[in-house]
Amino acid sequence: MANQEPTDPSHALFDLFVGAKTCRDVQQHFSALCVQLQVDPKDYRVFYSKLKERLNYWKAKALWVKIDKRASHKDYQQRKACAKNKCLVLGAGPCGLRAAVELALLGAQVLVVEKRASFSRNNVLHLWPYTIYDLRGLGAKKLYGHIAQPYLDHISIRQLQLILLKVALVLGVEVLTAVEFQGLEEPSGNKGWTAKLHPNPHPTLAFEFDVFISAGGGSFLPDGFKHKELRGKLAIGITANFTNRHTAAEGQVEEISGVARIYNQKFFHDLLTQTGIDLENIVYYKDDTHYFVMTAKKKSLLKKGVIKQDYSDAEQLLARENVDHDALWRYAYEAANFSTNRQLPDLEFATNHAGRPDVAMFDFTCMHRAEHASLVRERRGKKLLMGLVGDSLVEPFWPLGTGIARGFFAAFDTAWMVRSWGLGVPYLKVLAERESVYQLLSQTTPENTNKNYTSYSIDPTTRYRHVNLSAIQVHQVQHLYDVNDKS
Ligand code: FAD
Repeated sequence: MANQEPTDPSHALFDLFVGAKTCRDVQQHFSALCVQLQVDPKDYRVFYSKLKERLNYWKAKALWVKIDKRASHKDYQQRKACAKNKCLVLGAGPCGLRAAVELALLGAQVLVVEKRASFSRNNVLHLWPYTIYDLRGLGAKKLYGHIAQPYLDHISIRQLQLILLKVALVLGVEVLTAVEFQGLEEPSGNKGWTAKLHPNPHPTLAFEFDVFISAGGGSFLPDGFKHKELRGKLAIGITANFTNRHTAAEGQVEEISGVARIYNQKFFHDLLTQTGIDLENIVYYKDDTHYFVMTAKKKSLLKKGVIKQDYSDAEQLLARENVDHDALWRYAYEAANFSTNRQLPDLEFATNHAGRPDVAMFDFTCMHRAEHASLVRERRGKKLLMGLVGDSLVEPFWPLGTGIARGFFAAFDTAWMVRSWGLGVPYLKVLAERESVYQLLSQTTPENTNKNYTSYSIDPTTRYRHVNLSAIQVHQVQHLYDVNDKS
């Protein structure tokens, strides 16, 4: 049965949707499937149940079983908890999409806007065991077979986005790509909160919302939020992706799930003496590409001509004009070749969205963390709940691979906040609880969180071991309520 070509056109379209490997293909096949089945995704309240009812296909049923199981959790109150809420999510990165899925499960109307037209990031994310469990629970195995591998602990950023985009669409989330968020528009007349979008996809009827989730990545912070700078010692990260031809020889090369200087001094000493490359750590994952991430020492980057001139200021040091890109490619190539015992045959750089070798250097010296995770703004009697998720909330240090796990935690915590908002909990209490939970996020590790993944839900008490939801009191979050009724 599994190898037969489907004869029903909707089955064939479902297969194309599931197998789609680009953002555009996912959207196109999804639209074609909806037309074929005569289901309208704009009808978000009943969309998923209609899709299920009309697509009588065994492969689709396997996905429905997973989604139904998740959706039946009591927290969602049969997708009624937020039935009156409308949410705008900024950014279709993994955390924006993960949050959007939860908001849709809570019954809200959800619109995601993403400024990029494609998902192009080859870089690979480290997954904690619970993240894999979570993705499998959303049916990821049906949407991306690799996630079924027993020892899998990583995934490329774009693959993760594709999986979550598919789940979001099935749940009736509207995702607009190539649309940039340019700011909030305050309520006027009868109109509630809207967004300035470019290009404007709804010129006549703007989407009004009462919840705004910002998942715009590390460099994006919406008005009203502030970042704290966490300055550490100089840390220069390099990522490099090489073409994976999936040959047997490549298959045999062992991954390096993280080797740090203090644990393998000989390796780093040999690397330095044989190549002049001096690293603090290195990770190698085999995924769509051969992906390497390493932290390099400034002295060796200067010696190898990667950095042209020494500056004490990290920004100046790593400024575009102070980096020799050919030398950087050679540096990354040699480090990758050495650390895999020169076993990867025909090493060739994969290309990035600009068609250039996918090698990049990043400054992790100064990391950002938002001072607060949430706020409420009120204008003309209309309240807007705002929340941050993902890198926009806490920027991760990639070589440690903590980003996506904490990013998903924040997406769940935010969904829990929106749930309380939807259920009519007083807004200052909603903010106080969100800020209480946020205090724990940066210390979260696989060791200090609940091991019973089956019990995980958006409720923070199921995941954090020692969470006090009233650690921060209502009077301490007054400043997160911004009201201006003169407008
Ligand atoms: P992101 O994945 O950054 O997504 C934010 C999204 O918001 C983007 O798609 C962006 O286009 C969109 N956006 C921003 N502003 C607007 C706007 N005004 N309007 C509409 N859309 C907007 N992590 C690792 O662990 N290892 C790595 O090697 C690694 N490499 C990375 C390389 C790059 C270039 C970037 C940007 C991030 C990388 N990360 C890496 C971080 C990792 O991708 C994030 O931790 C993870 O994707 C979760 O992020 P997020 O969803 O919060 O944000």
